[in-house]
Amino acid sequence: MQIFNTMSRRKEEFVPLKDGKVGIYSCGPTVYNFFHIGNARPFVVFDVLRRYLEYKGYDVTFVQNFTDIDDKMIQRANQEGITVKELGDRFIEEYFKDAQALGVRAATHHPRATEHISRIIDIVKRLQDHGRAYEVNGDVYYDTEAFAGYGKLSGQNLSDLNSGARIEVDQSKKNPADFALWKHERPGEPSWDSPWGKGRPGWHIECSAMSTEYLGETFDIHCGGQDLIFPHHENEIAQSEGAFHKPFVNYWMHNGFLNINNEKMSKSLGNFFTVRDILQKYDPESVRMFLLSAHYRSPLNFNEEAIKQAQASLGRLYAARDKLSFLLNKAQVENLSEAEEEIKQEMQTYIGKFENAMDDDLNTAEAMGALFELVYAINTKLSGASSKKMLNFAKESLIKLCDVLGLLMKKEDELPQQVKDLASRREAARKEKNWALSDELRNELNAMGYSVEDTPQGQKISKTL
Ligand code: AMP
Ligand code: ZN
Repeated sequence: MQIFNTMSRRKEEFVPLKDGKVGIYSCGPTVYNFFHIGNARPFVVFDVLRRYLEYKGYDVTFVQNFTDIDDKMIQRANQEGITVKELGDRFIEEYFKDAQALGVRAATHHPRATEHISRIIDIVKRLQDHGRAYEVNGDVYYDTEAFAGYGKLSGQNLSDLNSGARIEVDQSKKNPADFALWKHERPGEPSWDSPWGKGRPGWHIECSAMSTEYLGETFDIHCGGQDLIFPHHENEIAQSEGAFHKPFVNYWMHNGFLNINNEKMSKSLGNFFTVRDILQKYDPESVRMFLLSAHYRSPLNFNEEAIKQAQASLGRLYAARDKLSFLLNKAQVENLSEAEEEIKQEMQTYIGKFENAMDDDLNTAEAMGALFELVYAINTKLSGASSKKMLNFAKESLIKLCDVLGLLMKKEDELPQQVKDLASRREAARKEKNWALSDELRNELNAMGYSVEDTPQGQKISKTL
């Protein structure tokens, strides 16, 4: 598999550190609110990365943190009159509800920053011992001049950064690019004991502490949105390599931004949507389908039309699965015919195309193209005369590929008894050529959310999305 590595700015063959195993760290949400539709993009995309690596046979350890202490957390907790811990507990719970709705599997580990303070302190101490951090009145800063590789991920030059006036000027820092590892206690803020007095960690250090705790001092893949390349990930490298003297990460993956109607999403533009808001209006699986409709590094534009398109495409996947189940129930022939051997081979080429697209830096857009070629073959080449083996092969292939994308997650549930009764009454009415009654019963089924299709094998009832 080829992965575009932000560090080298090119696609590289993916070779894991340990045979058959992959360690992935993905920067997670700051839990001061429901997460927004932009945040959902990395969650969904990197969930697919994990699923695809598992599909390829790797044993994946996936770590995604919760940032549960920072300025935004403190401010929001104060506004609500609750503790930072209570705020974190609440929005971690809400995270799981929305993530689950979007088909994002729980990570192997979901560490919280506030539960890793002693490791954070250890790393800051190491950096100080190695001359890479300095203390000023209870604050500890990273000394960027003391780390030769500073700027290598974002392609920036430290002297430009330090001479540039864009970085906020803080009298206590030696250089403008230096950043806080530890912040001294301020009234009304949560704090922990440390060698520099009471205080709390800076943001960047938590990810160095938690990634290396669960994945080792060097690990395979680190991901997040493009906005995190600088300074967050640049600083993680400086911290981790500065403390452990080992390469930190082998592959850096960054997703492109999601815009709303071609504008940057922001509260001031009034186009800020949480996933919770969006799920009031749209089916979560259609939202997931939409998030995977572009290559993860491209920008992605959210609008009503795009979600509707995704919903229609998803409907085609479910319709293909329904068709296969329906035909399987009625199939008479067991084994593949010669003609079916060819259809099977053709379907195998679509599976190959899907894998090639995913192997090419997780190109989900192209992979979906191959998936829909499979769907087209199912729709046009399989019928009431198809064999059980053919139908089973098609159905398993469809489900297997959709599972990599986290789609077709709704179970094929039995039709409710009431629906079955209406269907058999309708079948009887049709036999008696009572078209008026048959139409009436169809309308009743439609009103209950079921579509009815009359086929040579009888009527086919499916749940509409
Ligand atoms: P945050 O909670 O802001 O730290 O963000 C969590 C994740 O969402 C990070 O990986 C961000 O890079 C990513 N992210 C934030 N906004 C967007 C956006 N509009 N489009 C895509 N990814 C985003
Ligand atoms: Zn992070």
